[in-house]
Amino acid sequence: MAGLLSLVIPVYNEADSLEPLVAEIDESLRAAGLEYEIVFVDDGSTDGSFAVMQQLAAPRGDVRIVKLRRNFGKAAALSHGFAECRGDFVVTMDGDRQDDPAEIPRLIAPLDDGYDLVSGWKQSRQDPLNKTLPSRLFNWTVRRTTGIPLHDFNCGLKSYRREVVDTIYVYGEQHRYIPVVAAQAGFRVTEEKVSHRRRTAGRSKYGWQRYLRGYLDLMTVLFLGRYQHRPQHLFGGIGTLLILIGILVELYLTVDKLVFGHPIGQRPLLLLGALAIIVGVQLLSLGLIGELIANSRARGGPDPAQVARIVEGGIAVMSAAAGPAAPGSSKPAAATAALVVAAAGSLPADAAGAPAGVAPGVADRQ
Ligand code: UDP
Ligand code: MG
Repeated sequence: MAGLLSLVIPVYNEADSLEPLVAEIDESLRAAGLEYEIVFVDDGSTDGSFAVMQQLAAPRGDVRIVKLRRNFGKAAALSHGFAECRGDFVVTMDGDRQDDPAEIPRLIAPLDDGYDLVSGWKQSRQDPLNKTLPSRLFNWTVRRTTGIPLHDFNCGLKSYRREVVDTIYVYGEQHRYIPVVAAQAGFRVTEEKVSHRRRTAGRSKYGWQRYLRGYLDLMTVLFLGRYQHRPQHLFGGIGTLLILIGILVELYLTVDKLVFGHPIGQRPLLLLGALAIIVGVQLLSLGLIGELIANSRARGGPDPAQVARIVEGGIAVMSAAAGPAAPGSSKPAAATAALVVAAAGSLPADAAGAPAGVAPGVADRQ
């Protein structure tokens, strides 16, 4: 891949890792002859990570820091890094040195073969068993529910074409589903085996709660991917089925009473039928409210993020990266970035310049 590579590194309390990490990055990427910049996102660190980053950035022009006002989570940190980076292509990696920068040249190679996102696969993950086992179950579930055949969705090491980071938007803890969100948006996703190392400094930021939250986020990502443009197809579908079941049950009871003269007042089926009708009507109404929201978003015009390119007379006049800003732009809220620091010192972030973060439309998987 030719052009500038942006290395986006989310950092939350990794002070002791940063200096050796940058030394390793310089060694690996210079040897590979890559032109690169490093974009650190300080996600509200309280251990002096920001001071270390400033020291690292001061003598050189290719290290920039986005400092967030507090800890907003890895997905938000990545989104801010995507918004700030200037590269023609992007690699994300963790700031704890568990990812090896020497893998980067291999990780970006598939971008030349037409892939838009290459996700690292930590085939021999160097983490305790209480992480690796649940992680296998997690990856299996995501594979089965999304149909995307990756082995390791949550690897910190990933490479992207520029238009991917300009299009997708993740927030909360959705960093685990970046390949899913990208595939839902219509990008070509693949994986590449990468080595993984033990943590040598600092502590992991995620405990067992990650899996519970991860499954809730999976539901959100699946719902948004499939139904954000047609919520009534989900809620209305289940609601209508329940109403039909309820009506059939109540009809049966009515015939039983009127034709056969059996008492029905004490029968549990009576309650079940009524419940099915009530819940069905509620779901149908929820779907209509969802349609109201989808409708008001659709009135903003078609989402340019869905367009791969426009060709006129055999010539491409617009590629996705150069396209107009989406009505729901993929930029994260600038209000959460306290400072953007370049080599020459501290420049205040242009808080008024960037629009508020709104999830862009992703392609509707029929
Ligand atoms: N991280 C972050 N914000 C958070 C949690 C984590 O920026 O709220 C960063 C963290 O500093 C590290 C990367 O995300 O660079 C991965 O975190 P961690 O190593 O704790 O995850 P694990 O390897 O245990 O899955
Ligand atoms: Mg780690």
